[in-house]
Amino acid sequence: MKVLGIETSCDETGVAVYDTVAGLLAHRVHTQVDLHAAYGGVVPELASRDHIRLLPVLVAQTLEAVGCAAHELDAIAYTAGPGLAGALLVGASFAESFGLSLGVPVLPIHHLEGHLLSPLLAADAPEFPFVALLVSGGHTQLMHVSGVGEYELLGETLDDAAGEAFDKTAKLIGLGYPGGPQLAALAATGTSGRFVLPRPMLRSRDLDFSFSGLKTAVLHVVSAADWNPDDTADLAADFQQAVVDVLCVKALKALEASGSGRLVVAGGVGANRELRRRLDEAAARRGWRVYYPEPELCTDNGAMIAFAGALRAAAGECPHGHAIEVRPRWPLAELHGPMA
Ligand code: ATP
Ligand code: MG
Ligand code: FE
Repeated sequence: MKVLGIETSCDETGVAVYDTVAGLLAHRVHTQVDLHAAYGGVVPELASRDHIRLLPVLVAQTLEAVGCAAHELDAIAYTAGPGLAGALLVGASFAESFGLSLGVPVLPIHHLEGHLLSPLLAADAPEFPFVALLVSGGHTQLMHVSGVGEYELLGETLDDAAGEAFDKTAKLIGLGYPGGPQLAALAATGTSGRFVLPRPMLRSRDLDFSFSGLKTAVLHVVSAADWNPDDTADLAADFQQAVVDVLCVKALKALEASGSGRLVVAGGVGANRELRRRLDEAAARRGWRVYYPEPELCTDNGAMIAFAGALRAAAGECPHGHAIEVRPRWPLAELHGPMA
């Protein structure tokens, strides 16, 4: 079964073809970073227009790269939420009309389900059940995953997401947009331990997070009269340590309670090398394992959507009708398994 995946929830246009026998055949991502850089953040209307401009082109290119004619597709999967309403509508309209014209089922996919199933695309994939640490630009959540569509929320951020904290802090210390990867690169050149930053909710009994205070603490450091901009790399290293400390402690706590011994890390911050190093080290000491998507599949892409769609289609999910509906807000825990 060949499934075309379409991702347009934010500022990346992603397209992929996944085959249930041969695996991922091809994927293409166009990022709109340059388009939004001048505004310091994503401008929703510009995002929608750019998706309209590029989605048909990327679909044609991806199908051509695979040597697959449109009529050879067995299903289409697209991100139906959560995300920017206008951007989601572009993907939904395209997917539903394309599916209608081909006479194939079209599956609306939850963007976060895509992220958290993406480590299953790797050659060495984890078995169910596992604990998932979802650390993206808009979300920071710990979930217990017992199967496709069986997600129990264990804890989440009460304010900023981890990726958002990276981006906002990067802006504060004068880095460009989007700042997360740049802050991480700068942190790698600095030495941690010079600045005392808080570890919000590190010792709270729950599995929730809070990152907005950390960003404020960095603001205080750079606004102080004795701040020396030469210390920016060291400050970045301390900020990164603070985020990684909290993510590690809570993820290991969730893993301990679950008894599964398997942790899956997904979302853009999952590309962070220090986070990976610390999680791997802590897990190895306890005989547990951590699974990550391929680095290029940590951030938004069509492959994870095609894959989630293929798992659902293969399990018999077959939506009827071609209504164009999106859910800009959509809690992952509300999702059901393919046969529910
Ligand atoms: P969501 O999936 O919640 O809607 P999103 O799709 O925008 O959000 P992703 O694409 O998964 O989020 O991830 C983007 C985020 O990951 C950004 O906030 C970015 O700064 C962060 N990020 C990417 N690489 C790194 C890195 N190496 N270190 C820290 N943060 C990173
Ligand atoms: Mg993005
Ligand atoms: Fe995402």
